[in-house]
Parts: sequence; C-alpha cells; structure tokens
Amino acid sequence: MLIMLRRGSTEQDAQQVIGHLAWGEMAASQVRHRGRRLVCLEHALALELQRWLQENCPQVERVLDIKTPYKLTSVEYQSHASEVVVGQVRIGPGHFCVMAGPCAIESEDQLDRTAAAVKQAGADILRGGAFKPRTSPYSFQGLGLEGLKLLQRVSRHYGLPTVTEVVDCASVEVVAEYTDMLQVGARNMQNFPLLHEVGRAGKPVLLKRGPSATLQEWLLAAEYILAAGNDQVILCERGIKSFDPTTRNCLDLGGVAAVREKTHLPVIVDPSHATGKRSLVSPLALAAAAMGANGILVECHPCPEQALCDGAQSITLPQLLELVKGVQTVVAALEEMHHSTERHFAYSAQERELPSLAR
Ligand code: PEP
Ligand code: MN
Repeated sequence: MLIMLRRGSTEQDAQQVIGHLAWGEMAASQVRHRGRRLVCLEHALALELQRWLQENCPQVERVLDIKTPYKLTSVEYQSHASEVVVGQVRIGPGHFCVMAGPCAIESEDQLDRTAAAVKQAGADILRGGAFKPRTSPYSFQGLGLEGLKLLQRVSRHYGLPTVTEVVDCASVEVVAEYTDMLQVGARNMQNFPLLHEVGRAGKPVLLKRGPSATLQEWLLAAEYILAAGNDQVILCERGIKSFDPTTRNCLDLGGVAAVREKTHLPVIVDPSHATGKRSLVSPLALAAAAMGANGILVECHPCPEQALCDGAQSITLPQLLELVKGVQTVVAALEEMHHSTERHFAYSAQERELPSLAR
C-alpha cells in the first residue's frame, strides 16, 4: 500500500499519517520520491481505514493499492517505461545501450586501447572494475583508487560515460566522485546497507541480479535504492546458478521478459558473466537484443589470454566491433517489425472503418 501525500506536505504531515497507522499496529515508513512524500506499508490497508485517512487527513492525496511487495519499482506505480540517464546516454525505451570494457582495469595502456575500440565500435558506456569482488582472496583485487583515476582520465579522453562496481559502503563516495554510474555486483545484491547508500549517492545505479535471487528479491533490492531517493536504477541479468557446469551461469532470458512485465525500470543483459565463455557472448548478446532488452554489458580486452580477471569470457576488440554491428542489425530489424505491425494494425483499422465511411 502506498499513501501519496500532497505536494508541499511536511515531515510532520507524514509523521501524523504514520502515527494514525501505528494505532492499528501497522508499521509504515516514509519515503521521498521525485519530490513527493509517500508513506509505504508492507501490507494492505482495510477499505474503511483508507477512507478514514482520506476524509480525516487533508495531506493525503491518494491511496494506491499496490499489491506487490515492491512498490515504487512496480508497473502498478508507474506504467510507462523509465529512462535512466548516464552522462549524455539515455537508457530505456527507444535506444539499445551497449556498455563494454575490461572486467578489471589493469593499466593505462590496456584501458586506453579498450576504450578506443569501445568508442570506435559505437558502444555507449565504458565499463571497468577498480574494486573487484573475487571468489578467492588470492586473486587480483583491482587497482582501487588508481583504477578509478585511470577510468576517469581515459573515459574523458574518449568522451564515454563510465560504470564501475562499488563493493562496500565505505567506498561509495569515492566511486561516485570518479564515475558516472555505480554498479552493485551480483554478490552484493542483498547488501542492504550498500543499497541504501547507493540510493543516496546521487548517481545512477546498475543493479546486477544475485546468482540465486528470485525476480521478487531482485526487485525488492531495487526498491531499497528507490526508497532511499534514487530512481535512476537499471537492472542487469547476469545469469543464475544452475546444475550444469558447462556454462559459468545460466542466462535467464525468460526472467528478463518476466521482470519487464513487473517493473518500469530498464533491464539489460550481461552475456559475459552469464556464460563464462568468449564464444557464447555474441549469440547471447544477439538474443538479448532480439528479445527487447534495453542493452548489454560486455567484457572485452585487448589481449584476453593475458587478462588478470575473467579472460576466458572476454571478447577481443575486433570481436566487439562485430558484436556491436550485429546487435544494431537485430535492433533495427526489431524496430522494423514493430513499425510494420503498427502499420498493419493501422491499415486493418482503416479497412474496418471503410464500410461505415462508405455509408
Ligand atoms: C563484473 O561485472 O565485473 C562482475 C563482477 O559481475 P557480477 O557481479 O555479475 O559477477
Ligand atoms: Mn568480470
């Protein structure tokens, strides 16, 4: 349940509503969303109480009966698709976004060569990890602050906005200072203090799906960020755990289609972590484009055999060029299909109109 307060309502107005609900032993919290104060309740509110609030609290504008546990994230709250803006790049309806770059930033030369190819390929956003969440404590953990500085310098040179992972609350501020979008990694999807913190950082957030998270858990994780005041959130499917070790994870494209029916947030696909295999990245990137995802996040490297992290799933720079051409072709074909369907329906509607016009 969401209780929307009128514009200009104060903290006191919100606390008064929360106080009334507390009488009924209902826990409610206040959130700020696009300049509005909202009182959110996990459960439904009896009709009589809804009416009572509307009649007795002038600050209450509307009571929205949103049934899903996630509220601000849901299509019931907002039916039109959201757009997220990263630097000059718009992610959402009408534009398929390609984010590409190395798994980890290793050196200026590696990042510079990669960024040049990302730009040349016509991709939109440069990715690169400075703080790496690694399964083993003995693996390369990233260049840290030095990596962030390299990312900023190189990306500015090529005019590309950036995305990089933030692994803990303590580094949110510094990561937000050097990059355009904060990535919350799969392993951190349910790190609730981190979600809250990135919700307050004032930068767009790329939220990966946890390897064993349900769609509802994923959307509730996004809800934490929105509830903290940040509606610039992109969801990223990167494969979930499966019984088959052939691929690193199992890309849940069905889940992407399903989650897009539930949320207005843009949803992109990471075919690199989903497969763990270079040869499988392109087919799944094309599949993501064909099924209407809002974009892809791809790992690439000037010399994948020498990569310090995720080399086996990193495509080469010439492969990136081909991949971007391929997804652009698929996206254009999909658009043409939508247009011709629209034309077909417009034409059939006209045909249906004709007899009545003749009369
Ligand atoms: C990454 O994008 O480099 C990464 C670590 O991804 P994930 O959190 O999906 O494993
Ligand atoms: Mn990686």
